[in-house]
Amino acid sequence: MNLIDGKALSNTIKEEIAAEVSKICKGQKRPPHLAAVLVGEDPASAVYVRNKVRSCEKCGFESTLIKKRENTTEDELLEIVKELNEDEDIDGFIVQLPLPKHIDENKITLAIDPGKDVDGFHPTNFGKMAQGLPAYLPATPFGIMTMLDRYNIEVQGKNCVVLGRSNIVGTPISILLSRKAKPGNATVTLCHSRTQNLADYTRKADIIVVALGIPNYLKADMIKEGAVIIDVGINRIEAPERKSGYRLVGDADFDEVSTKCSHITPVPGGVGPMTVTSLLTNTLQAYKSNFLNK
Ligand code: NAD
Repeated sequence: MNLIDGKALSNTIKEEIAAEVSKICKGQKRPPHLAAVLVGEDPASAVYVRNKVRSCEKCGFESTLIKKRENTTEDELLEIVKELNEDEDIDGFIVQLPLPKHIDENKITLAIDPGKDVDGFHPTNFGKMAQGLPAYLPATPFGIMTMLDRYNIEVQGKNCVVLGRSNIVGTPISILLSRKAKPGNATVTLCHSRTQNLADYTRKADIIVVALGIPNYLKADMIKEGAVIIDVGINRIEAPERKSGYRLVGDADFDEVSTKCSHITPVPGGVGPMTVTSLLTNTLQAYKSNFLNK
């Protein structure tokens, strides 16, 4: 079994981005600038946003964190989005999901200027992605495609099974894997909560992307020998022996499937760090389009 080390790859790519930024700026031009909006107190979201801001610093980006109270209204958030859309010093921004229940996430996503939508969630970017046009790719699927590419994992002609059909992971990764591109050209099956006899699909898969949010769901008897496992799940389970009281596990039962698969992404240290790196790659692209080449 080979570990697909997302953390190490992410560090390599961050170094590449930092080198490019330092070459472009040479102290004369302003650096790329990412803004992140965090509404409420969700602890997992706070950790994700902190990682994003820290990674910006590592790459020589400027970053702005806008923290808002849980009771921020939808109109107040729409106003912040409008200001960020219009701010020429901001190349791209994200609104960290999930948002508090009283705010309509779709309304917020639609309000973001697609040219600054470095999370790639706006329907304009999603549509362009589906048609194979240049677009900001959603960060998690983009990170997975980068891992497959850099680890030279053959995707063309393979049977890929995606578990989960969310707008941010399952559906876009199924599109990217099936696109006429490299990596891509796979035969993709998308399984979800209404799929019957799901293991019949996974047992035939060369590559499985599992994005369900169910701890240790994928077992050894559900995969074939030599399969590639991309584990997107990030689940907190109780671990009284730890100071934090919890530990993170993926959607694949690592101890079981790692004895049978050819490659696997660990949790933590797999897909997660690559998601952050993809966001930085998109922001660098936005900087070039919105500032350098304007
Ligand atoms: P989601 O809850 O939006 O979607 C889950 C999907 O799983 C749904 O499409 C549902 O149909 C399917 N599903 C649920 N139960 C099922 C079952 N028993 N059988 C088959 N399908 C089932 O989740 P999401 O936002 O795509 O996130 C999935 C997981 O990935 C979560 O653990 C999340 O924390 C994690 N995640 C990680 C990253 C990262 O950067 N590593 C990014 C996003 C999400």
